[in-house]
Amino acid sequence: MSICPKNKSSKARRDKRRANWKMSAPTLVKCSNCGELMLPHRVCKACGCYNKKEIVKASAN
Ligand SMILES: [Zn+2]
Repeated sequence: MSICPKNKSSKARRDKRRANWKMSAPTLVKCSNCGELMLPHRVCKACGCYNKKEIVKASAN
């Protein structure tokens, strides 16, 4: 069973709700090991490090 909306949302109401959903640029931080821009709380793509320790072997370049 799914919820049943009691009242119809007008186009303005519906579109106002959807207008809040926007794309934003991803936050990037510098890798503490190699200085490359990376996504926070993720293993660095360039050197395969997280928290200054090598977790994943860096791919061949
Ligand atoms: Zn790195």
